[in-house]
Amino acid sequence: MNRVAENLLHTKLDHAAIRSDFPILARQARHGKNLIYLDNAATTLKPRQVLDAVYDHYAYGASNIHRGVHYLSEEATRLYEGARETVRDFINARETKEIIFTSGTTFAINLVAKSWGRKNISAGDEIVITHMEHHANIVPWQMLREETGCILNIAPINDRGELDMAALESLITPRTKLVSVVYTSNSLGTINPVRDIIRLAKKHGSAVLLDAAQTVAHTKVDVQNLDCDFLVFSGHKLFATSGVGVLYGKRAILEGMPPFMGGGDMIKSVTFEKTTYADLPARLEAGTPAIGGAIGLAAAIGYVRNIGFDSIAAQEKDLLTYATGLVSDIPGLRIIGTAAEKAAILSFIVDGVHPHDMGSLLDAEGVAVRAGHHCTQPLMTRFKIPATTRASFSFYNTRADVDALVAAIKKAIEVFA
Ligand code: PLP
Repeated sequence: MNRVAENLLHTKLDHAAIRSDFPILARQARHGKNLIYLDNAATTLKPRQVLDAVYDHYAYGASNIHRGVHYLSEEATRLYEGARETVRDFINARETKEIIFTSGTTFAINLVAKSWGRKNISAGDEIVITHMEHHANIVPWQMLREETGCILNIAPINDRGELDMAALESLITPRTKLVSVVYTSNSLGTINPVRDIIRLAKKHGSAVLLDAAQTVAHTKVDVQNLDCDFLVFSGHKLFATSGVGVLYGKRAILEGMPPFMGGGDMIKSVTFEKTTYADLPARLEAGTPAIGGAIGLAAAIGYVRNIGFDSIAAQEKDLLTYATGLVSDIPGLRIIGTAAEKAAILSFIVDGVHPHDMGSLLDAEGVAVRAGHHCTQPLMTRFKIPATTRASFSFYNTRADVDALVAAIKKAIEVFA
């Protein structure tokens, strides 16, 4: 057997076994059609292993963490802090103090803006983002601009949806305090050259935040190797439940960040005159966190690692190539986002069919996709379109799902012909 064949064998997934891990894939969608789930960029499905971990916590172990002295509280604390270690190891952070549990990507970016930003950014300082950011990586910086008078610079993209690196380079100057970029675009699928971006930022002493919401379920991320200052992601896009997410930050930077929220669990001592704060990570995690969510996230990470990123990447690349080839033959269909480095996200528009109508007609065939601006309105404006229809794939999708998508698109087009 040659090396290519060997590799194929190695990365080939047992689809039947994998799909049976996801109970939702056995259910029917509209009109009793089989569910074809292609909305993974919005949220991923949850395998039984995650659901069991969450269920077990609430069914047999429900308890609050840290403050309890009883058995169940100690057990829940162990699981919650164990989940922090699992996340640390997953992204190769140096220590668990660098992992802050949040409610998701949005909260994590807001935490950075409202804590680190308020302390470190003042009038005239510059923040660089890109034209393909999710609103979660635009609005918090606009709010900071309102508060501080800082300047928000937007790095342009080309018609394929790739960053204009020369323009980005010219925007990063000694005045730049933060470069905050999406690692993988949720609307276009573009995978940004984050190593080059980090190198450019470091040249001028700027901090870098990576929005990895669309990355961590698809490829290995190593924060030490990347040398980013912050990295954020959501559990629900990584096969875990909603309500849990992660802010990674370098310890020295997190230690300099004032608490953004005050309350229980983040203090050392409280009197009416003065409060002293707990050490990391508790200092940035006020109140009862998503305990079951964190436990589920650890189970999700275990699940993903068991499958392996080589296999996941091979499967998703095959699906993207296959789908791109098939839809490219459909007259009147235009793919939005054709970057050379691209994740398995297929955004498209079709002449004469509004993306929302396309989404509804696909739904009638059991094909779940997303239609809209995908929380990237400036990006839609850049492409002079109101919205796209977006199919986004995960490793549990198959070529049969792509065939169903393509057949449904063709049927939808006939309705409008
Ligand atoms: N950033 C990107 C690239 C996203 O795709 C999303 C969600 O779609 C977010 C941020 C916001 O994530 P959440 O809503 O989980 O906070």
